[in-house]
Amino acid sequence: MVGGPWEPVIGLECHVELNTRTKMFCSCPNRFGAEPNTDTCPVCLGHPGSLPVPNREAIARIILIGLALGSTIAARSIFHRKHYFYPDMPKNFQISQYDLPICVGGALEIDLPDGSAKRVGITRVHMEEDTGKTTHASASGRIHDAAHALVDYNRAGVPLVECVSEPDLRSPEEAGAYLRELRALLGALGVSDVRMEEGSLRCDANVSVRPVGSDELGTKIEIKNLNSVRSLERALAYEIDRQTRALEAGEVLVQETRHWDEDAGRTTVMRSKEEAFDYRYFPEPDIPPIEPDPAWIEELRARLPELPRARRDRYVREHGLRPEVARVLVADPGASDLFERTVALGAPPERAANWITQDLAALRKAGEGRVGPEHLAELIAMLDRGEITGASAKVALEEAFATGDPVPVIVERRGLAALADADALAEAVRAAIDAHPDAVERFRAGNEGVLGFLVGQVMRATGGTADPRRVADLLRERLG
Ligand SMILES: [Zn+2]
Repeated sequence: MVGGPWEPVIGLECHVELNTRTKMFCSCPNRFGAEPNTDTCPVCLGHPGSLPVPNREAIARIILIGLALGSTIAARSIFHRKHYFYPDMPKNFQISQYDLPICVGGALEIDLPDGSAKRVGITRVHMEEDTGKTTHASASGRIHDAAHALVDYNRAGVPLVECVSEPDLRSPEEAGAYLRELRALLGALGVSDVRMEEGSLRCDANVSVRPVGSDELGTKIEIKNLNSVRSLERALAYEIDRQTRALEAGEVLVQETRHWDEDAGRTTVMRSKEEAFDYRYFPEPDIPPIEPDPAWIEELRARLPELPRARRDRYVREHGLRPEVARVLVADPGASDLFERTVALGAPPERAANWITQDLAALRKAGEGRVGPEHLAELIAMLDRGEITGASAKVALEEAFATGDPVPVIVERRGLAALADADALAEAVRAAIDAHPDAVERFRAGNEGVLGFLVGQVMRATGGTADPRRVADLLRERLG
């Protein structure tokens, strides 16, 4: 083997659960978090004699994904049976696609940390069904020391799209950017909940290392089931380092599948190539070929929304947002929609974006609230007219989030109106000075920092309704 420097070669296989109302081949509900084994029927439990019927809306959604990625939509594609034996798959095969997927080729353009863009090739996007979920009842959660296993078939038969990239990625950061971009794209299309923490978007990474300048591919290692951008980047960084060290020590790497241990921060061997499954693919005899009508494909193309890249560019160009802010907004379709509607009500774009990506984002971490565009537009307008202070605006936002009440109603009810009464303000300033003679002494002795303390006292006494800059001016006037 030639020596370094080395470069990693990475390709990703991402699995996306579609958020259709029903499962892929039966009419069971497709939802997350139901009581185990309640969303099942003879079809998704693989009972003999049951017949799968493809979900038209799921096919529409995979075509939308293909169109958004610039793939060719196959005039004819077929389903295959992929055989393997695992308790979470009651039929002992998975209905998937093999050599004739629905979408072929395409590309996803990603933004790199240095500000440049890169086109990452898409090999194929195919349709399959998800498996059930096995929980191993052991202290470590690992299979080898489990006393027994619990199986939940609610997920069996949920429509699953697999998107396979070309090995075009060259660093963990590029892989992370690809996964974020794909997540934003799927979210914008509305085809999936893309909740990585709930497993509706999962990722396997293929990674090898080769000398820079080489055209050959090194020995490919697959890392299974990465369920966050952070896990993906960490696992790849670990694996690139491990492979590079092995090659520099003159070792020969073997093709294998590895598991990422999040807590230990390392990958471990799951199975080697010799143990690889022979899936014995053969055409699914119960489902006719998928031959989408070209007119239907054009109808779907017309349904494509503005895609995340174009939207980010527009936010920067039309609204003057900083690229980082545009990226945060567009990554979350809910936030981006709220931004557009708030700006449409006349709010200054940058201010609206800041409220949405900062204070409101912090509130939304705890759950969905009831803040709409009219709340934000009103809040910003009242701030601009000096009717409330920044501190009061935060309180009003929190209450609007919880109750959905109009901002002026909340301001009135909570007594948040800015203290416009000059006498009342002067009185609060005088009271703070009287109550803290030693602080006054220290300020007069030249300790400027004490002013912040005194402003804080007035703000507290006025319940945050005083304008802090005015308070500081008044204090200086009095003490100077
Ligand atoms: Zn079913």
